[in-house]
Amino acid sequence: MIDFLSEELRLMKEHHLYRSLYLIDGPSEPKTIINGREMLLFSSNNYLGLASHPRVKAAAIAAVKRWGTGSGGSRLTTGNFNLHRQLEKRIARFKGTEDAIIFNTGYMANLGVISALVGREDLVISDQLNHASIVDGCRLSRATVRIYRHNDMLDLARILSDRTSFRRCLIVTDGVFSMDGDIAPLPQLFELAQEHQAILMVDDAHATGVLGDRGAGTVEYFGLEKRGIIQMGTLSKALGSEGGYVAGTSNLIDFLRNRARSFIYSTALSPPVIASAMAALEVLENEPHLKEQLKANVRLFYQGLKDLGFEVLPTQSAIIPLMVGDSCKALALSTALAEMGVFVPAIRPPTVPEGTSRLRITLMATHTRDHIQFALDAFQKAGKKLGLL
Ligand code: PMP
Repeated sequence: MIDFLSEELRLMKEHHLYRSLYLIDGPSEPKTIINGREMLLFSSNNYLGLASHPRVKAAAIAAVKRWGTGSGGSRLTTGNFNLHRQLEKRIARFKGTEDAIIFNTGYMANLGVISALVGREDLVISDQLNHASIVDGCRLSRATVRIYRHNDMLDLARILSDRTSFRRCLIVTDGVFSMDGDIAPLPQLFELAQEHQAILMVDDAHATGVLGDRGAGTVEYFGLEKRGIIQMGTLSKALGSEGGYVAGTSNLIDFLRNRARSFIYSTALSPPVIASAMAALEVLENEPHLKEQLKANVRLFYQGLKDLGFEVLPTQSAIIPLMVGDSCKALALSTALAEMGVFVPAIRPPTVPEGTSRLRITLMATHTRDHIQFALDAFQKAGKKLGLL
């Protein structure tokens, strides 16, 4: 009955699309143990190093001591601790919105919010390169889904000309695109949304803690606060914890509490996770140099790769995509780097479009100049060995 599994697995391996798990035995820091070996990590989303910041760790430990390890229920039953509401209010303050709601992951936030806001009679319009959790949220909603070419406002306007045949319309975009590192043109998106009476939602998973004066994300970066843009994001990347959130008006949050199924039917996040996210927001506010250090590290690495002759996409985030194209070559580059102690996994289809396999390099504020120089030397050696330079 399930013989097809071995055949499917064989095909994945034949096409260099098979994925296996790496075993990490240490914190998500620049130097850690991967598959039993000390390596320099250049692919973590722990952009500011907060997952092992002493104050963030101390907050998690204190929370376990006081409240234990699990919440014991869903938010609407017995799992709603004071902590959860405090964090939601803290996120709303950070994002400049009336309220916020936390989900167990960013993935679940996207599923929950999109499927709650639109249904069969509605239209949802999504950027071609949006994250898989947005794609799945759109599918789950049963709304009509239309895809516009990446960041292409003319294509979006073309699709919006059909908007009047639908009850509601939701435009959804990544703020910072997870595999390309570029930013969505929010001001233009907002104008089009206004013009066509559409709701605009931005996924700031990779912008939170990275973009904007206070690190509040793309809405702050473009100065679009108070415009009613729905801001979704994660606690799992620059904030070094776990969970997702949606920030917006009180009505929106009240509605989601009642309608977002991934919020309603899942056990609330555990106390240490909530406490560490709260502490991370404090650190972000009190230690702005971390964000500056991250930016400086990105600039240094990006310029280094360009000087070596690699094809890197321009970036304003913590993500530097090094384009290889062929998935087999991308895998070979990643393997050669790993042999030299530098860890950057290859990103291949279906995560990225066919023919655009790449190494997704991410920087952390905690990388030193020495780490960066060591990695650049390894990229040069590996690039030459594989004929990429
Ligand atoms: N949105 C984007 C743009 C992401 O990159 C990710 C995580 N890779 C998510 C949502 C999901 O967030 P989480 O990992 O917290 O589930």
